[in-house]
Amino acid sequence: MPDNQPITWWERLTKSFGGLRDVFVSPLRRLFGSSDPLTPEKRAQLKRLLIEADFGPSLTQELLSLASDISASEPEKVLLKLKAHLLSLLPPEGKPWSDDLRCVILAGVNGAGKTTTIAKIAHLFAHRHPLLIPADTYRAAAIEQLESWSTRYQIPFFAHQLSDPSAVAYQGLDQALIAGQLALIDTSGRLPNNQNLMHELGKIQRVVLKKLEGEQQLRTILVLDASQGQNLLEQVRLFKEAFTVDALIITKLDGSSKAGTLFQISQKYQIPIDYCGVGESVSDLISFEPAAFVEALWGTE
Ligand code: GDP
Repeated sequence: MPDNQPITWWERLTKSFGGLRDVFVSPLRRLFGSSDPLTPEKRAQLKRLLIEADFGPSLTQELLSLASDISASEPEKVLLKLKAHLLSLLPPEGKPWSDDLRCVILAGVNGAGKTTTIAKIAHLFAHRHPLLIPADTYRAAAIEQLESWSTRYQIPFFAHQLSDPSAVAYQGLDQALIAGQLALIDTSGRLPNNQNLMHELGKIQRVVLKKLEGEQQLRTILVLDASQGQNLLEQVRLFKEAFTVDALIITKLDGSSKAGTLFQISQKYQIPIDYCGVGESVSDLISFEPAAFVEALWGTE
């Protein structure tokens, strides 16, 4: 990841946990914060916290069993073990986006935060001269939204009259490659149960790959809204059927109290998480650092 926010990264992550602070982070600290033994009542409370933060029944059970393996009189040891286990579930820290990268495709359901995230990526990668390519030809509003980011932040925009999303992606990428720009392709907000739209996503990916000189030049991102909790597992499953998902970007981490789902997704699919959205402004995109994420959620202040 570009290292352009080294000092504020931790602050931004922990501050962004607004939705989680009251319902998860603070109660957890109270639970493990003293050397008092982990009584059955405390274990019951831990279970409640895990379920409410969407760790899901199976992972919750796994964590509770781990906690039971350790002497109840040593809450500090229990905490360390749980943190180590959670960290082992997360994929390793994402690789930086290399200079080989020529094209990023963003997919996800409507409202996940794709368009906002494209603008954030363009901001972060301004040095790569991004070109915004609106391939959601079904909704005029989606194109207008991307264009308004373009106008606001003077990011070049691929204007077109085409109706076929793959043609937009192809021609937009063509223009970007000629001009040495990083192509950022926004796709239609799909309902994963709409087979045609999902197939079209696979087509966009194939068409784009034909133009590139290898898979390392493309990053196909599934954008997930953290506040949707358990639903995300099904979204990942269905999108993965339609196309190759190289990485995830998790949006709205700032408003969500359901961060537990990320551990479930990681445990099941091991897809790298490249970035997290922590607010609505164009600079609210931070890299995902697994160890710091677990620490911010479970650990020290
Ligand atoms: P799209 O339909 O997937 O393109 O979603 P949009 O980009 O239009 O985003 C939907 C809403 O989510 C907008 O109101 C955005 O401002 C908001 N949004 C996107 N990312 C974030 C984020 O990281 N944090 C917060 N709080 N809001 C976000």
